[in-house]
Amino acid sequence: MSEDMEQTATTANPEDFRAGYVAIIGDPNVGKSTLLNTLIGQKISIVSRKAQTTRHKILGIRSAPGSQIIFLDTPGLLQPAYLLQQAMMNFAYAAMDEADVVVFMIDATDPKLGPEIEHDTAFGVLRRLQKPVFLVINKTDLVPKETVASIIGFYSVHYAFTEIFPISALRAEGTEDLARTLALQLPVHPPFYPPDVVSEHPERFFVGEFIREKIFETFREEIPYSTTVDILEFKEQSGRKDLIRAEIYVERESQKGILIGKKGSALREVGEAARRDIETFLGRKIFLELHVKVRERWRASDAWLKRLGYH
Ligand code: GDP
Ligand code: MG
Repeated sequence: MSEDMEQTATTANPEDFRAGYVAIIGDPNVGKSTLLNTLIGQKISIVSRKAQTTRHKILGIRSAPGSQIIFLDTPGLLQPAYLLQQAMMNFAYAAMDEADVVVFMIDATDPKLGPEIEHDTAFGVLRRLQKPVFLVINKTDLVPKETVASIIGFYSVHYAFTEIFPISALRAEGTEDLARTLALQLPVHPPFYPPDVVSEHPERFFVGEFIREKIFETFREEIPYSTTVDILEFKEQSGRKDLIRAEIYVERESQKGILIGKKGSALREVGEAARRDIETFLGRKIFLELHVKVRERWRASDAWLKRLGYH
């Protein structure tokens, strides 16, 4: 990459800030999760609700000086081609609608180099996309250079990729360069999220915010300000509704009584209203379990504020 480009990506001038969505597609085990871990790390932080513009699952957010990349999951794209191919492709299109760039990831130890590539579901999708597509050849640490070269040769005949990046996600080789180049493809736009890096389930935060909002709507005066919400569990369950367990912390026993209400009526009201909003937001049904706990002076506890994502 040229020095010019690198400077654009790291400049502090807000007019040069780039932010947007990158969809990652690829067969199971090609190394998508490993790449995200390498690019984003394990830091978990918060996101702000108003910034949420996507209905799709966010895998992680990488904030760097001058850029912010929001990585999107694209569910169901690369199932066996005979399974309702068209329906799945439509699904994949929907998931990629919001992406500014698509990363097509393959495994250097298991590339598809035969004529079957013409019938590959992913390739069918790529052909109809009107946006930059990067080919990322992962696990290059496991194959000789010549193999990488022949993969590049084969794939570039079949599709005009915007960029081709051989990387090792595991060894973090080529990954920073990839991220910088991806960022340069994003529109000039202020960051969608606070600069704290987000990984894994930012949905958790939104869920907490919906519950807090309902508490604000349901109670007056000091109750909302003495309350905070901690999402204890956010469990995706295949074939069943997701389970979300949240704890609402108040500072005094008397507040707990008010929040729960007569025979639990107040808490039930909060729970039902929050559940409806959360379901709309997530686009799927959930079980929402709310508990109320007293934690004296939680607002004064630094450790707690940290855990709850206030700083
Ligand atoms: P995903 O299903 O696409 O998310 O793939 P994962 O990220 O879970 O990776 C699948 C397997 O490939 C794991 O065992 C990873 O450790 C391994 N893997 C991923 N990237 C690399 C790489 O660059 N080099 C090597 N040697 N292994 C890798
Ligand atoms: Mg994975």
